[in-house]
Amino acid sequence: MPARPWRRAPASYSLLLGCLLCLAFLTLLQTGRAAAQAPGNTYTVQAGDTLASLATRFGIPLEELAAANNIADVNVLYVGQILNLPGGNASRPGAAARPGDTIRSIAEREGLSALQLAALNHTAPTVRLFPGQPVHRPGDIPPPATALRFGSVQIVNVPQSVVQGQADWLQVEASRPLPLTAHWNGVPLGIRPIAIRGEDGTGASRADTVTVWGGYIPTTALMGPGVFTLSLSYVARSGVTVTRTFPVQVQDGLFPYQQIDLPPEKVGLLDQELLRSELDHLWTIWSRTNTPIQWRQPFRLPLPSAFPMTSPYGARRSYNGGPYSSFHSGQDFAAPGGIPVVAPADGIVALAEPLTVRGLSVILDHGAGLFTGYWHLREMLVAPGALVEAGDPIGLVGTTGLSTGQHLHWELRIYGLAVDPMSFLTKPLFSLLP
Ligand SMILES: [Zn+2]
Repeated sequence: MPARPWRRAPASYSLLLGCLLCLAFLTLLQTGRAAAQAPGNTYTVQAGDTLASLATRFGIPLEELAAANNIADVNVLYVGQILNLPGGNASRPGAAARPGDTIRSIAEREGLSALQLAALNHTAPTVRLFPGQPVHRPGDIPPPATALRFGSVQIVNVPQSVVQGQADWLQVEASRPLPLTAHWNGVPLGIRPIAIRGEDGTGASRADTVTVWGGYIPTTALMGPGVFTLSLSYVARSGVTVTRTFPVQVQDGLFPYQQIDLPPEKVGLLDQELLRSELDHLWTIWSRTNTPIQWRQPFRLPLPSAFPMTSPYGARRSYNGGPYSSFHSGQDFAAPGGIPVVAPADGIVALAEPLTVRGLSVILDHGAGLFTGYWHLREMLVAPGALVEAGDPIGLVGTTGLSTGQHLHWELRIYGLAVDPMSFLTKPLFSLLP
């Protein structure tokens, strides 16, 4: 039995404390487009991989790869296993096209997937490359993509990397009002104008007026690790759509893995239709991006810090020996029923109603596509449309809905994607704002 590079929680039904609902519907939330499976210094094992094929692909001696991962039997690998790659990137020269090269020929030479390599380089496998043209390979660190300009877009601030389960910020400055759109891994981002610089107060536009656009870049616990594409587009005055793409590395978040054995009689509890219809209802809220940003300060905890945190965000879960295809979408806190839950930041109440799976629920809209959710409440203390400030009570801890004990499940969504709420307690995401 090989040693595993992560902490394995005991297989236990008690892991489900309160969060039965985290079971199956989470798989529906994944972007599922992590095609660019690339390591930083790690690699997540895919179906069909063997240790020998990976050793060849990354140019690492088989014994060295096995030793770096405490693998005693080189024939035992499983999908989802995260491998450390000793010396991987540092020793590898950058790739450049040779005369006559296509992505396909380079892929064959380097033992890579042609489709994956084509996606990474934003081209087709059969397109003839210029001799010397740089080729990005899985595991190559993307070049910095900050302070780039194209057309009427003067400055683009894109993070070079984001850790799985966290969010970062995209900021763009343009010399004129543009119908700017952004996509992240194919998902539209709620990028919006957040400031205008150089306005003279009369409303008349001046030559040096700059529109500042901003938007979140969310990741989830199951996105990557790998290189993902952020694209920015606008329609120029000529009517032509101008697009530019930027690579962003999503780094491994190193989440715990949990195996959970559900007794057969509990499996039927999670009616897929029920899960899906409730989720559809929530997506109508989570997909709103046109509300003003309500918050500036780091978030505070929704409960006093004396109450222990239990199941963390991002724990990858396997049920009854199945694949690790879902993760815990929020942070759980153990607290007795009736303890007040407070708003972690300013916001507007977007939902306060009983839900079948999540029980009595409150969702706060913090603006521009960022929402927080509070499930299984005993009582809701706010109504939809109400403005709340950080620290205002919004409900009481309970165990309503599909919950097996008194606790709070706290969730944070950006454009509908579940991001680690705890990362917002300290992160000065808005230090970039003008
Ligand atoms: Zn939970």
